[in-house]
Amino acid sequence: MIHPTDWSIHDFKEIFPVDVLEHLQKISFCGTFGDPMMNNDLIKMCEYISEVAPHMDVRVHTNGSARSIKWWQELTAALPDKHEIVFALDGLEDTQHLYRVGTNYNKIIENAQAVINAGGCAVWMFIRFEHNQHQVEEARRRAKDLGFYDFVLKNTRRFDRPEFPVIDRAGEVRYSLRQPTDSVIKFVTSKELETFKDWNRASEINCFALNDREYYIDANFTLLPCCILAAFLYTNYNEALYKNLNLHTPMVPFGQSIQENVHNIIREYGGLDKLNAKLGIKNIVNTELWQTLLQRKWEKNESACCTVMCSNDSPFIKLDDQIVNDV
Ligand code: SF4
Repeated sequence: MIHPTDWSIHDFKEIFPVDVLEHLQKISFCGTFGDPMMNNDLIKMCEYISEVAPHMDVRVHTNGSARSIKWWQELTAALPDKHEIVFALDGLEDTQHLYRVGTNYNKIIENAQAVINAGGCAVWMFIRFEHNQHQVEEARRRAKDLGFYDFVLKNTRRFDRPEFPVIDRAGEVRYSLRQPTDSVIKFVTSKELETFKDWNRASEINCFALNDREYYIDANFTLLPCCILAAFLYTNYNEALYKNLNLHTPMVPFGQSIQENVHNIIREYGGLDKLNAKLGIKNIVNTELWQTLLQRKWEKNESACCTVMCSNDSPFIKLDDQIVNDV
């Protein structure tokens, strides 16, 4: 269950005191279940980083569809030299809102333009579906004309069936999303999901968090090795909810099973309280338990989340495979 939480500047300073910030190279504000632009102290946090750790590379990932132009100008001014504001722009005026429901293309462009005009480094990130695949080149052209620093193209990785229904609050299916017609990504199928317990558990784990020396802290201050564990920790796999929506999907038993496994691992860490980043990031990660627990699990294939998301034989696509270089 996610409880609405908003870090204050005091929380941020407590978790990232100067001696911790000095040793970090990069901070990404990227909501697994939220959007950093909704945080009321984001600008103060960026000012603090710029003041005490001006070497830092700061990334803000956002749908960019809220806040005033003045707010985006202030955010840009608060960021250190090395930064990117990554705008999730999956299409143009007529398609942007189909996946990112409630967002507005013109409002995002207005905000991105405010960032660019204020000297900020704005990135256009485009996730390709069937409904927007014909707009890639036009979006790339607009990104260049408007002064975006980069245009990143990805294929969606959201599918376990040919169509993904978009359901309104009344439970009605409004329309469906589909993967790009020329996608080379092999999506995991419903059949594969049903048999996930038989997947090759002896395959090697390639942990990007370990490789990149990353940590993840969620909105409740819980320190975790990566965002994937956090996603399984909080996603609602309530069977009744899916039945009410008339959605029969193997994603529910699959997700429940992995979630249970993630909860067991967190219990072995000592529970959520022992992973509270306010105890001190160093105090948590310098323990033998943190340093060894997951690797011991990998040896015995006991971390289902790691097996399904990061093992070499997983039918889920890898994050890197999602990036499209040339279309
Ligand atoms: S899911 Fe497991 S293996 Fe993958 S990045 Fe996270 S901790 Fe590492």
